[in-house]
Amino acid sequence: MKEDYYEILGVSKNASAAEIKKAYRKKAIQYHPDKNPDDKSAETNFKKAAEAYEVLGNEDKRAKYDQYGHAAFEGGQGFGGGMNMDDIFSQFGDIFGSAFGGGGFDSGGFGGGGQRRAQGTNMRIRVKLTLEEIAKGVEKKIKVPRKVQAPGVQYGTCSSCNGRGQVMKITNTILGRMQTSTVCSACGGSGQTLLNRPAGTDPQGMIKKEETVSIKIPAGVEEGMQLKVSGKGNEAPANGISGDLLVLIEELPHDSFVREGNHMHYDLYISISEAALGISKELKLLEGKARIKLEPGIQSGKTLRLRGKGLPSVNGYGTGDLLVHVNVWTPKKLNKEQQQFFEKMLEDPNFTPNPEKSDKSFFEKVKDMFA
Ligand SMILES: [Zn+2]
Repeated sequence: MKEDYYEILGVSKNASAAEIKKAYRKKAIQYHPDKNPDDKSAETNFKKAAEAYEVLGNEDKRAKYDQYGHAAFEGGQGFGGGMNMDDIFSQFGDIFGSAFGGGGFDSGGFGGGGQRRAQGTNMRIRVKLTLEEIAKGVEKKIKVPRKVQAPGVQYGTCSSCNGRGQVMKITNTILGRMQTSTVCSACGGSGQTLLNRPAGTDPQGMIKKEETVSIKIPAGVEEGMQLKVSGKGNEAPANGISGDLLVLIEELPHDSFVREGNHMHYDLYISISEAALGISKELKLLEGKARIKLEPGIQSGKTLRLRGKGLPSVNGYGTGDLLVHVNVWTPKKLNKEQQQFFEKMLEDPNFTPNPEKSDKSFFEKVKDMFA
């Protein structure tokens, strides 16, 4: 059962168009993805509100909805289900205004029509991390070549648009005079132009400057994740809004451990004697050590699970396990005495394989993998 559109926006059935628009704007700001990064429920609410507004914000669609409910839009008529984020921004972007940065220039303030502020572009960097750094979290100081306003640069009100960022154009048509407003081409909509241009700066008064940015990387991040450091991308001219620094995580391979999500795998090699007699072994972990006890008669291929010795999850919920895979190493050279010992054991029932069914065979493990 789909939720009622009026309820989603929190308005009454006889709300005015203005009230609906206002209610939608409120929801859109509350659940905007820029304000709720990586929050799936916020994203869902954001989409729901957009879907509700898509219908209630349109007189015809609203009338149909009032008469037939959700059934009015089933069967391919109009809006079926769910809008994607790009649809929402392209359709209703003007409602959000510039409280949230996009690319390029943004209209200033809600319901604005006022001056626009320049927006710096985002920068992307890669950071390589060892598993040790990922296990604990790490603070990295990275040199970033940012575009910044040159020292001494001055901006002043654009004379073409008097700082409005927009220019009015009046055209005479058969229907009468039409007035349209367009983005001012002299200042690109910022309302500001360069008063002086210090040597070595680009046409917007910007220079490249290497700055050290400190990036806090939480424990448990994974290859391909992207962190955002707000405002540490390129600066914008005319004291606009700086872009963000986007940090792409790369994971360096480790000599001993292989990662699988928050779990880690480790190959342990023991000798035939250790396997037969049992042994206590100390493992060097990413952080600290752990002691494991192998029972006499342990089989090659056995997996021991050390709970909580894997990696912490990046959202702070729990820690993975360390899976220790036991491999019995067979000696490749034997002296005469050893040779005789093993020959003697060939017919010995204690040395005759008798696979335990409690230990999963290779084939069973493979079956599990593809189940
Ligand atoms: Zn201008």
